[in-house]
Amino acid sequence: MSTSTLVTPLDAGAVRADFPILAETNERGQPLTFLDSAASSQKPAAVLDALDSYYRSYNANIHRGVYALSEKATARYEEARHLVADFIGAASPRECVFVRNTTEAINLVAQTWGRRHVGPGDLIVLTVMDHHSNLVPWQMLAEEKGADLAHVRITSDGRLEMDHLDELLRREPKLVAFPHVSNALGTVNDAAEIVRRAHAAGSLVLIDGAQSVPHLPVDVRVLDCDFLAFSGHKMLAPMGSGVLYGKRALLEAMPPFMGGGSMIRKVELGRSTWADVPAKFEAGTPAVGEAIGLGAAVEYLSALGMDRVRDHERELTAYALDRLAEVPDLTVYGPADPNQRSGAVSFTVGDVHPHDVAAILDGENVAVRAGHHCCQPLMRELGLLATTRASFYVYNTEEDVDRLAAALRKATAIFAV
Ligand code: PLP
Repeated sequence: MSTSTLVTPLDAGAVRADFPILAETNERGQPLTFLDSAASSQKPAAVLDALDSYYRSYNANIHRGVYALSEKATARYEEARHLVADFIGAASPRECVFVRNTTEAINLVAQTWGRRHVGPGDLIVLTVMDHHSNLVPWQMLAEEKGADLAHVRITSDGRLEMDHLDELLRREPKLVAFPHVSNALGTVNDAAEIVRRAHAAGSLVLIDGAQSVPHLPVDVRVLDCDFLAFSGHKMLAPMGSGVLYGKRALLEAMPPFMGGGSMIRKVELGRSTWADVPAKFEAGTPAVGEAIGLGAAVEYLSALGMDRVRDHERELTAYALDRLAEVPDLTVYGPADPNQRSGAVSFTVGDVHPHDVAAILDGENVAVRAGHHCCQPLMRELGLLATTRASFYVYNTEEDVDRLAAALRKATAIFAV
């Protein structure tokens, strides 16, 4: 018997009750069918309460206040760091830097590790399926340093071409950076295998975990990645909370990102020395309540169990792929096998513009995303300008998928597809 058959399935119906926004209806009384969690998830009462309680009962700046309120805020902020470290299997909370989001985490690495270690002619390997936030920071660095960029190609069903990765690794890149899960195709990449091959070639590895940490069990020690970047707002936590994980020795050897208060040991008029990690990378007043909210989100997800979260989304995605296959002229992008994909499902309907499809769905209070999903090079590769994307999370049910399919059939009737 496999482990997953021993685990009780996630009860999404019960989970929904924890999310106040899901009880809202539109002006026509239609329930909210929220299918845009890949952009930003909804927040459970536990997270809203954590944020509210911070602002209502112990709001204070942290680390320097010698009074009870500040000490409590500091303790909760650092507790959140412990929770996050445990959640991703980090060896120490010191390896988890609080940032605003995935984008900031990647820029931090590019501007500190990158500026110190990447020089003229050095190679950085990315992928064609990367989000702009894992393309642009490296383009900026490459331009400044005269370094080269190369991108792993994708197969016709949206998986990374591992032979092409091997070919690029023969050029001994300084860094390989890739998305664990593609936000536009839903592809779940074999991160551990990519890390293994990249390390064998002498490269460091950064994983963009924006779409994996919220949705599947992620353990940095199992993956053995050097850096992992992710955003709190996609995993039930407030906007403005995010994490850069880095192996401690690497973080310690890196210069700071931004300068200012909190990140220093000693300041003289002409020079300064730096605090230990992670404070060295947390200049200025951080988003205290948001980090505490992230801690609450991590506790909530841990109580659900990330294996169950993954199983739930895999089953819902399999169900959605079957329902979408019944819609006339609808094309789904990315791997067909639900085991190889996440709950982010991108599609087009005939020649109808993806924005028009999304607008019709909105008329039924079905919230999906349409556009290039911050993946313009990927869209170009697919010969598309945009797709419509439905994405699932812990609170979505088969009824949500049924409403999506019914609204899509309405769209096809309107546009006479
Ligand atoms: N990487 C991936 C794969 C994403 O899906 C996203 C957001 O959609 C990001 C990075 C950027 O996340 P953020 O906007 O929170 O920095």
